Amino acid sequence: MGLRMRARAWIAGLALMLLAAQSWALTEVRGVRLWRAPDNTRLVFDLTGPVQHSVFTLAAPDRIVIDVPRAALRGSLDNLPLANTPITGMRAAPRDDNSLRVVIDLSSSVTPKSFTLEPNQEYGHRLVLDLFDKAAAPSERPPVTANPARPATPVSPALPSSNRLPPQPSAQRDIIIAIDAGHGGEDPGAIGPGGVREKDVVLSISKQLQRAINAERGYRAELVRTGDYFIPLRKRTEIARKKGADLFVSIHADAAPRTSAYGASVYALSDRGATSETARWLADSENRSDLIGGVGNVSLDDKDRMLAGVLLDLSMTATLSSSLNVGQKVLSNMGSITPLHKRRVEQAGFMVLKSPDIPSILVETGFISNPAEARKLQTAGHQQALVRSMHSGIRQFFQENPPPGTYIAWLRDSGRIAPGPREHVVRSGESLALLAQRYQVSLASIRSANNLKNDVIKVGQTLSIPAPTLAGEP
Ligand SMILES: [Zn+2]
Repeated sequence: MGLRMRARAWIAGLALMLLAAQSWALTEVRGVRLWRAPDNTRLVFDLTGPVQHSVFTLAAPDRIVIDVPRAALRGSLDNLPLANTPITGMRAAPRDDNSLRVVIDLSSSVTPKSFTLEPNQEYGHRLVLDLFDKAAAPSERPPVTANPARPATPVSPALPSSNRLPPQPSAQRDIIIAIDAGHGGEDPGAIGPGGVREKDVVLSISKQLQRAINAERGYRAELVRTGDYFIPLRKRTEIARKKGADLFVSIHADAAPRTSAYGASVYALSDRGATSETARWLADSENRSDLIGGVGNVSLDDKDRMLAGVLLDLSMTATLSSSLNVGQKVLSNMGSITPLHKRRVEQAGFMVLKSPDIPSILVETGFISNPAEARKLQTAGHQQALVRSMHSGIRQFFQENPPPGTYIAWLRDSGRIAPGPREHVVRSGESLALLAQRYQVSLASIRSANNLKNDVIKVGQTLSIPAPTLAGEP
């Protein structure tokens, strides 16, 4: 073998080694996950490392192309739940420059937004592609005060009655409750023993609460999240505003720093620090939701931020006092069916509670990190009890503070709802069940109004009787 031949073999070997090293260094696309939301489809590519990428669209037929330099497909792009999405197929091929090209076939054109996510406790590096349906552009945002369904003035216990509209039975609107099931999609929320996921438990409870509220005349409940998909925190309050919400209720079942922690709690917003360590810890972990799930392009622009600042000064105090009021009523009712973590509404800087003009509370139905509570939270019976107690608290609040122009305001103003709590001194032969029946209130609400642990009452004891429910109303 001549010197030249040997050199050539050596060079060929070196080239092979370089090639091998290069392909060894490629970032792997391990697989893809898909979530369908009402107005967009999210694809999440799981990666073995950080990547650069570019995205472009092609028309006739509609396609999206993603080029990822120095990447190779190792997983499968098949078996995705494509039903109800504009995606008809997906394929990938390596290109000569060591990049990976993914082509997504579409049945209609979409607006793509893409970004990468850093690893967290749950997942590694990810490339997120959100495909927004053309009918609902992601930048669409209603002005903060443009909703005619909701009064400009927040619901406030201090609102003088002269500010209320005269009773007009023909123009009564429903009171609208926005129910926000926490987390969803890419963000599973807390994970309990046996793999139970917060996002699933709270969606189930939220749907039942919606059904219960909708069964009552004068109220309408709207779900912020209707399925298993991610919504950024700021978008959640926007959806509530778009629906004309009079109240925003975010439902959670988080983990606690200690697995022994237990009990339900209710939170309102605080901009001035948290009322306890747990409150601060929870608000911090909730606010990380955007990092876990990926916020993409959703943010307040400068105009919104200025307007929000003005509104904040004008109405935040009244809104917060309504939030604390409804929160305490919900908490008291929950106290009759489940142990409470704290007997008072706690406060911390939860992003999702930052609507300046909609009373907003966050309900922790229990700690999913506690094995006993995780078990309970999954049972139909306990979910129903939670729903009934939250519903009672919300109803009590609006019977006392109905927004002007609503059916409930009309009921109240025309004397169909007895105002405020009354008192009753127990006489011989009376039971709690008998009194509940006589005053047309539920046993649970009379128990919770008096902080009773059981139904034992004594002759001579003074009980406060909550406002009657609407069940007895014609
Ligand atoms: Zn949560």
